[in-house]
This record gives sequence, structure tokens and C-alpha cells, in this order.
Amino acid sequence: MTLRIATIACALIVGAGLFADSAAPAAEVASRALPAPSNELPVATDVRLGGDDQRTRFVLDLSRKIDLAAFTLADPYRVVVDLPQVTFKLPAKVGDHARGLVKAFRYGLIMQGGSRIVLDTKGPVRVEKAFTLDAADGQPARLVLDLAATDRDSFLRTIALENRPAKQTRREPPPRESGDPRPLIVLDPGHGGIDTGTKGLKGENEKEIVLAFAQALRERLLAGGKYRVEMTRTDDTFIPLNERVRFARQRSAALFISIHADSLPKREGQAEGATIYTLSENASDAEAARLAEAENRADVIAGVDLTAEPDDVANILVDLAQRETKTFSLQFARSAVNELKSTARLHKNPMKSAGFVVLRAPDVPSVLIELGYMSTKDDLRQLTSEAWRVKTAAAMAQAVDSFFGPRLAGGAGRAN
Ligand SMILES: [Zn+2]
Repeated sequence: MTLRIATIACALIVGAGLFADSAAPAAEVASRALPAPSNELPVATDVRLGGDDQRTRFVLDLSRKIDLAAFTLADPYRVVVDLPQVTFKLPAKVGDHARGLVKAFRYGLIMQGGSRIVLDTKGPVRVEKAFTLDAADGQPARLVLDLAATDRDSFLRTIALENRPAKQTRREPPPRESGDPRPLIVLDPGHGGIDTGTKGLKGENEKEIVLAFAQALRERLLAGGKYRVEMTRTDDTFIPLNERVRFARQRSAALFISIHADSLPKREGQAEGATIYTLSENASDAEAARLAEAENRADVIAGVDLTAEPDDVANILVDLAQRETKTFSLQFARSAVNELKSTARLHKNPMKSAGFVVLRAPDVPSVLIELGYMSTKDDLRQLTSEAWRVKTAAAMAQAVDSFFGPRLAGGAGRAN
């Protein structure tokens, strides 16, 4: 697996109050007199970066003061700022512009009740200050983050001195046994929250397209009454890759379908149509390898500390169950290609394999479908069309029927 990244974290957990001494008392009084309703989320309205490649200041304007926790991650170098849930109303593409130590930044939900900002930095940095201020002197409330360049050794030394931040990502409680003998199909809409996935020609987000498709497929599968269906996410929340695998395994899923949409950089030309991927250590071709690497970056993009993530499946031996799972995965991939042939555009080479992290469950047949290319006009038109979605979901449901047909007829509740 290519995604074994040595990740280093040092934490600077900052209660906003500690640094708020300079806030004007008048503002304190004003905010007490007019408390914001507690059910209203704080709003981020603007953002500025200033400074140079030695010191850079990041300022976020807010509708009110909030708490924050800032920490750094290495390989690649990032600064992560965890916040309570915030509504971001920032100018489009504001995070794409480099300034000083910051190459780019992104923001969004990391879990229900929690937002996150992830800044990619040009090298190792030290978080010198991280605080929020009350509104004062005609200025809105602000979050201020001061970064200073440092060297890698100093960066690594601080790890021993600082505590890791509390785990910020969602952890599912173990599911209850349902007692329902029908096979469980887990649908896994890719990305979510702070990780938007790839972008379409007009800024369409992969995370939204794949969620809409998963919902259509779930409806279709449930309508037949033959399966139970669960989704790794049903809203715009980020789920780490390992968590998606764990979700399916804990529930003894009979089939796991991860749903994505691809996009090609301009220089790599055009491609079109859907592709079904299964797991392999060696990618079937260079494009499959590129894609798996891109999809496997989801955790890096969202600022997940990979060293703190338990890796449930890394050390499982290749055993009979795993080989059987592989056979089932391939069977389902074939069945999906057969069904999609008549309803959807398929890639000229529609069955491929590569080292996708989400396909690593040794005991759950798993495939990943790339619905099409968001960088290709005709594909994008389909991906965003309700009619196409319904038709393609029906074809996928048909593929699920072909896959389970013989097993259900034989009375077996599960595929494995
Ligand atoms: Zn994706």
C-alpha cells in the first residue's frame, strides 16, 4: 500500500479565552447584553493571509468568538485547526492562493458538530499563536493563526513535548445485530465535508455527485425488498478511509460499493465513461495507479493523523477467505460492467484494479466505481442529470441482483 505515511503531530490546544485579554471590555459587555442564540452556528465571513516565508498570519473573520485547537502534521506538512461547527461563507477558491508559508488551505465539516481548516505549508512550521478575539473597534470577531518557519529537526523535537490532540474523527459505536437475514449492502459515497473530492468543469463537487448517486442506488435496492442497505455517510460529513472499511466489516456486509467520479488534469487529455475497480497490490495500468493514489489522499486532505488511526486490516494474512472475497469482488465487477454496458457510457477499458485503501476489507467483497469523468463535458452532463442517475442506479441494482441471485435462491443469507 502506498499510503503509509509517517505522520508527526504536535499539538497546541488553545482555549480561546487564554488569549483574549486584549479584547476590549466594551465588546465583552455588548456580547453579554446580546448573546447569540445557541442554536445558531458561528459564521466565517472572510479570510486573509499576510506575511512572508518566515512568518505568516492567517486571519478568519467570524460572527462570534469560538474555541479552537491547532496542531501540525508532517509528510506532507500541514497545520490543522479544529473548531466547533462553523458555517463557511468565504469567497470561492479563496484557499487556492499561496501566500508566505501557506501553499493552499481548505475548510469544512470534519464531523457533526465540528469543522476543520487544513493549511498546506511549504515546509515545517511552528504554530506561534492561535487564538480568537471578540468583536471590537468595528472589527468582527477573528481567529488568528501565526505561523513561523522552522527546521524539520526542531519540528520533530516538539513532538515529545506536546500531547497529541484528542482524536477528532467520528468513531461509530459497534452496530447492533439486526436479526434480519437479508444480505447487507454497504454503499460508500466517497469524500465529504472538508474533502470535496475532484471538481467538475463549473466547480461541481465530486462529494455531492456521488452522494446523490448513492442515495438513488439505495432507494432502488430497498424498493426491491431483497437487501438491507446502509451508507457510510448520508450527509456532507468527512469519513476517514479506514472508518469506511471498518463500517462494512463490523456489520458483516455482503457487498461494499464505493462510489466516486474521476477527473483528468488537462495535460492528460480526455477520457470518458464509468470504470469498476477491484483491489490489487499492483495497479492494472498507470491511470489506475494515479487514480488510487488520488483517492487514497482523502485522509491527507482532511488532516487525519494517520499514525493515530488504528489500521485494522494492514496485517491480516492472505488466507482462503481473502481469496474468496477477491473472487466475489471480481464477479460483482463483471456483473456491473455487463449491466452498465447498455445504460451508461463505459470506459474503453472498464475493469481495472489498484491499491485503493477502501477496498482492503479481507472479508467483504468490495468494488469501487468511478461513475465517469467530471473533466469531460458529456460525462459531467450525465453525472449531474437526474434521469441518468435513476437509469444507472437501476443498472447497478440489476448487477447486485445478478450477483446475489444464485446465492439467494440457494437460501444463503450472505455472499461469503
Ligand atoms: Zn473520489
